[in-house]
Amino acid sequence: MVRDQMGPCGIACGACDLGNGTVGGTARKTKEYLQNYGVSQWAPLVPGGDEVDFDELYKSLDWVSTYTTCLGCERGGGPPDCSIRRCAGERGHGICSECPEVEGCDRFQWLGEHGEALRKKLKDSGGKTKKELISEALEAIE
Ligand code: SF4
Ligand code: SF4
Repeated sequence: MVRDQMGPCGIACGACDLGNGTVGGTARKTKEYLQNYGVSQWAPLVPGGDEVDFDELYKSLDWVSTYTTCLGCERGGGPPDCSIRRCAGERGHGICSECPEVEGCDRFQWLGEHGEALRKKLKDSGGKTKKELISEALEAIE
């Protein structure tokens, strides 16, 4: 289950709007709302509404709801060439806080400021297990 996964980088999949299905589910709901409220029928009466191709919009929303929901990092979701996942896998670490090199690791850089915040959090995680870190992350969003 995506909710119970965490990448070795410390991203909790259940706290990610792609991983927890929010983006896909919102696209599906948006299509339903548009259809149920007959938006395409009255859109031409509103400025710019006659330029919207609702059939194309529905197709795009179908694509988003079908393909954006991530499998989660542990099941191969996310960027296929992620250097953090590859490195942690090769070293046998389920989470980078187990790694003695987390202090100066530069593999988080591709995630920008967010990556640096993740790395620091793992460095300072005080030996918490991956399970504990997942629970903490989920509590923070509930
Ligand atoms: S793919 Fe990389 S960045 Fe994404 S959750 Fe996994 S380890 Fe983290
Ligand atoms: S060197 Fe250590 S901290 Fe850096 S990505 Fe690899 S396993 Fe994670």
